[in-house]
Amino acid sequence: MLSSKPVIGAFVLIASTTAQTAYAEEDRAAWRVFIADQATSTVTALDLDVPERRWRFDLQGPSKLYASPSGQTVIAVQSDHDRVNFIRSGITLENHGEHSDIKITDPAAVDAALEGPRPFHVVAHGETTAINFDKGGYASFLQEHDLTEGRINPAQFTQSRAHHGFSVPLGGYVISSVPSDAPLAEGAAPSRVGIAAFDNTGAPIGEMQVCTDLHGEAFSGAYLVAGCKEGVVAIHDVKGVPDFEMLPYPADFAGGNTGTLLGSTAMQMFLGNYGANSVVIIDPTEAPYFTRVDLPFRRVDFVMDPVNAQFAYILTEDGSLHRLNMLSGEIVQTVRVSQPYSMDGHWRDPRPRLAMAGDRLLMTDPLAQVLRVINPSTFDALEAISIEGLPYNIVAIGGSGLDH
Ligand code: ZN
Ligand code: ZN
Repeated sequence: MLSSKPVIGAFVLIASTTAQTAYAEEDRAAWRVFIADQATSTVTALDLDVPERRWRFDLQGPSKLYASPSGQTVIAVQSDHDRVNFIRSGITLENHGEHSDIKITDPAAVDAALEGPRPFHVVAHGETTAINFDKGGYASFLQEHDLTEGRINPAQFTQSRAHHGFSVPLGGYVISSVPSDAPLAEGAAPSRVGIAAFDNTGAPIGEMQVCTDLHGEAFSGAYLVAGCKEGVVAIHDVKGVPDFEMLPYPADFAGGNTGTLLGSTAMQMFLGNYGANSVVIIDPTEAPYFTRVDLPFRRVDFVMDPVNAQFAYILTEDGSLHRLNMLSGEIVQTVRVSQPYSMDGHWRDPRPRLAMAGDRLLMTDPLAQVLRVINPSTFDALEAISIEGLPYNIVAIGGSGLDH
């Protein structure tokens, strides 16, 4: 599907009979990769097919990177520096129905940045990028049409109390995690006790759904889900009214919970962790909702395959990649791809992160100082691209289309 070089003149359109002119069009594919260093403020951008084509952005501190819903903007969250920067990806894909258009320009930093107390979780969905400010007690909602114009013009949704959570528009309301209102020790953050719907002013709509220690959120199909101690809560809009349903962990699950979630874009399905050593495939519409898959070692990172949607790839701390068939619930292949990366130690120690770039699987390998490019169908190593420093958080943006 992807060509490593642009194909010139793959399509020729004949213009109207009066003009009698033939226009050559270019069928192009491009994947651009953004990698944040684990220790410094550097973000490196490179073209996956021409990796010596690179750009460097120096921000305030180490970033976690996200893509805006259209992929036109990279969001660089610098939690410890109270700052969010924005980088134009330089890849614009426009769906024109029977074909897509692609425009490729250099990536470029957006001048305006967001400052606020401890930005953390980002949820990019629909037209909105929602950034939670954990010590500010609010979330900033950025609309895609503003971001694509380089306008950093957020609406602020005020929460009852500052906490490590998320708020995101759904239907005509906002779904938000709910912090405990119990008194706090000096410097402590409130726990999360539930999730609820609110109007734009922050006034609650209906009852709170209990969700103890809420953490992790994802969208897939009609559903938003979040991880809780009791299970995973599934939320969807029913004719303008938010519907909350707790999907309880099955009785034979013991001792763990789900705190990280991914949502498929091609089918209504979620993949979450269950404790450190297992993952769960979640179908929010059909009991018992969870299929649990145990891993031989603790999970370092995982990613869903948007092209071959039944597959997800899981990296475990022994340096092995596993291909999970989410329809059968089976791990179908395991291959050692890097040195071990123990999950003991600090949560933010340099460890690999995964991303998909069309039909290629990408993995940062900070201690080897490379970006590994892997064939996801065979786990064959395709390339190891040198990256200075400690390559860590990663997003890949791209696709294919016509340039005309
Ligand atoms: Zn077009
Ligand atoms: Zn978190």
